[in-house]
Amino acid sequence: MEKSQKTIERSVEIEGIGLHTGERARLIFHPATADTGIVFMKKDGSHNGVIKPLIENLLDTAKFPRRTSIGDEDVQIHTVEHLLSALYSMEIDNVLIEIEGNECPGVDGSAKPFVEIIKKAGIKQLNKKKDVFIIKEPIYLSENNTHIIALPSSELKISYILDYPETSLGSQYASYSIIPEIYEKEIAPARTFCLKEEIEPLKKIGLGKGSDYKNTLVIDKDGFPIDNQFRFKDEPVRHKISDLIGDIALFGSYIVGHIIGIKSGHSMNTKFINKMKALKEREKMGMGMDKEGHRGDGILYAEDICKIIPHRYPFLLVDRIVELNDNKAIGIKNVSMNEWFFQGHFPGRPIMPGVLIVEAMAQVGGVLMLHKEENRGKLAYFMSIEQVKFRKAVRPGCQLILQVEVLKIKGKVARLVGKAFVDGSVVTEGTFMSTIVDE
Ligand code: ZN
Repeated sequence: MEKSQKTIERSVEIEGIGLHTGERARLIFHPATADTGIVFMKKDGSHNGVIKPLIENLLDTAKFPRRTSIGDEDVQIHTVEHLLSALYSMEIDNVLIEIEGNECPGVDGSAKPFVEIIKKAGIKQLNKKKDVFIIKEPIYLSENNTHIIALPSSELKISYILDYPETSLGSQYASYSIIPEIYEKEIAPARTFCLKEEIEPLKKIGLGKGSDYKNTLVIDKDGFPIDNQFRFKDEPVRHKISDLIGDIALFGSYIVGHIIGIKSGHSMNTKFINKMKALKEREKMGMGMDKEGHRGDGILYAEDICKIIPHRYPFLLVDRIVELNDNKAIGIKNVSMNEWFFQGHFPGRPIMPGVLIVEAMAQVGGVLMLHKEENRGKLAYFMSIEQVKFRKAVRPGCQLILQVEVLKIKGKVARLVGKAFVDGSVVTEGTFMSTIVDE
């Protein structure tokens, strides 16, 4: 399925009160070039913080309940789900979003205002292929009687079962093909909701400061919204579909498949995305193979890697390169209990030293720089390593996926960004400066 990337045609803005913080916020959307992605920019004095709404930047849902929050040390942005739902469904791949404030405006509690602003900006097709992930076989996740399932389908389709037994909401089911025209009409207008009895506990933990009966459907004991009217008889389940799309957007790629949520919430959806990410990485590994299993371009085994970089046992920390082009390399390191470094790090509690994960990323960076014709036979030296973060421990049995991308090349000096994943989660990341020298 071939789709082109899209952005908006001109800059537009929207402002309003955040549903949870009650604070005023303003978003200014700007067109962006292909492969930029969705990028939030936050000005803090002279400092510009930038963050992408991707699963690896998701903030702990236990700390920030009942919403989707993204961030790092510099930037925190709350309640992005309705905006992301609108961008994903309207198939906008690239946009720069300046944000003033810490939370997306709640407006009417639905994704509709964001669809309207996108349409006001105009949609522009870009001359680059959209990153599409096709569900080829069923994937499912079950936990505490909640489920999420993905099935093959020729288009993105979302179904949801909502079930609030012994409340006025009861059960609702809805299923829609998520194409822009249908989304805009049937899903985007559905507003956020809660039960009357949930209000007190929410206010107690300091949430819902910006909510009122207009932007939040507060369902009474008879099953109707207080001081308001449903836009659809089954508005709550439609809103659940909207929120599920907002979570799926954190996957980064556009999904072609049928996703079915059964009482699944934000934390389940997140786990599911991580599962799909792991699957996507695995698929990438096989990408260089054709149907007969022949080795394609970009796949390098250890003996090929040794022709490019000088590292040898016990210091060669890449087993295989599975994707390689001028701007990006993905390598694999299978971490086994037999690694030499586990003997002392630590006896009885084997953990891969963080510096070696950094070294493994640097070696993939070396392959990325040196595989180019003009650099063959040269050496890549690393001059600096910055912003290194160790997020999770790597133990025997883990498979490290080492992804290195070029940020900038100037003459012989390159700035690279590396990420190491295990099971779809980032374990280590950092940026590198490397220079090419003649041997
Ligand atoms: Zn919502």
